[in-house]
Amino acid sequence: MSESLFSDASQRLDEALAYASISEEAIERLKLPRSSLKVSIPVRMDNGELRIFPGYRVRYDDTRGPTKGGIRFHPDVSIDEVQSLAFWMTFKCAVANLPFGGGKGGITVDPKSLSPFELERLSRGYIDAVADFIGPDVDIPAPDVYTNEMIMGWMVDQYGIIKRQIAPAVITGKPLTMGGSLGRDKATAMGAFFTMEATLPRLGLSGSPATTTVAVQGFGNAGAIIAELLFNAGYKVVAVSDSQGGIYRREGLDIPSVRQFKDSTRALKAVYCEGSVCNAVDHETITNEELLALDVDILAPAALENQITASNARDIKARAVYELANGPTTPEADEILRGRDVVVFPDILVNAGGVTVSYFEWVQNRQGLYWTLDEVNQRLKQKMVEETERIWDIAQTQGISQRTAAYVHALNRIGDAVQAKGTKSYFTGGGD
Ligand code: NAD
Repeated sequence: MSESLFSDASQRLDEALAYASISEEAIERLKLPRSSLKVSIPVRMDNGELRIFPGYRVRYDDTRGPTKGGIRFHPDVSIDEVQSLAFWMTFKCAVANLPFGGGKGGITVDPKSLSPFELERLSRGYIDAVADFIGPDVDIPAPDVYTNEMIMGWMVDQYGIIKRQIAPAVITGKPLTMGGSLGRDKATAMGAFFTMEATLPRLGLSGSPATTTVAVQGFGNAGAIIAELLFNAGYKVVAVSDSQGGIYRREGLDIPSVRQFKDSTRALKAVYCEGSVCNAVDHETITNEELLALDVDILAPAALENQITASNARDIKARAVYELANGPTTPEADEILRGRDVVVFPDILVNAGGVTVSYFEWVQNRQGLYWTLDEVNQRLKQKMVEETERIWDIAQTQGISQRTAAYVHALNRIGDAVQAKGTKSYFTGGGD
């Protein structure tokens, strides 16, 4: 996955370079990470045995500010994967105009094989190993695949023990009681919702939400919440899916009922609930491939990478694709969709609401003043709408895709920051 993410991101970057105003020196700077750290983490297991786990942290680029990015616990984690994801974060933070560069971290481990005590010792051990590499003004981790609020809580606590100070701003995605932000749980979907609302009228799809049909792939944190936000705003969500497959109902699904049923049974089923009683309603079960090919206005991939590929892109009938997942569309599929006038709104914009509210958490920690949920969502809306509109304008003016425009937007910002420190033209007297 990492290699495909990296090569996809690099390919998109190459396309964008032709349209961005960025110096050769800035491009050179982006070819290698600023610093990478490999550590080994000794953990005393419950059976008395000592095991050593490999861990990593990469700070890819900090020209625009401290580096920011999650920590992943997964058996496939490697330094290459962490580096690719840190590179990706550099662009996402620049798209959202956050004062951050890109970073990422991880441990090569199957977290499901550990007891809760072992997991805590491993999480604290990771911070023991990287404490001098991270910090509120240097590098700020967050949760990622198979890490969560509780793990962030252990980690921020361990950092405080090592530094002999309470430093909540060193890590985001913490529990609310340890300085987490209201709204972080729904931030990714909320950000995507604001991008949709800002762009649907421009696509000529805003007749009325009630006649705008939506299919959502994935029913986890990103997918279930975007489905519910759209449902609550009156859109007709006709299909949703999880790893087992999907459900389709032409008249639309009652998403709060589907969520309630899924939360209590783990099963995805078209139901209508009154109180705690849920009754099945007429629907069809479909595969994930069929969901992607539905004749809907909006398709929202919110599960995994590489879902829309050269082999199924010609089947996509949606008018617009909003990528809540990271990397759901391959570069070849992108080309095919563009040729068929399907507008793809890219991950580095659409799912940037998550890192944006992480930034808000960091700001609140530093000022020691906490915002209401309304304040968080207002600020998120302002940022998402502003960046969505700027990317839209770049795409229109330069005649390029939304994705290329998002990369151009990020590159221009990173290039400006490099330029501000002086490039060859300045030091050889060519500057103004
Ligand atoms: P999650 O684990 O909460 O949910 C993932 C969902 O995808 C689950 O419903 C799972 O059943 C489903 N799924 C798994 N395999 C599938 C398959 N083959 N076909 C269809 N569905 C499948 O994860 P999440 O946090 O919702 O993340 C989903 C995507 O959004 C990922 O690409 C993630 O990187 C991206 N993302 C999430 C956030 C966030 O804040 N949660 C932020 C940025 C990006």
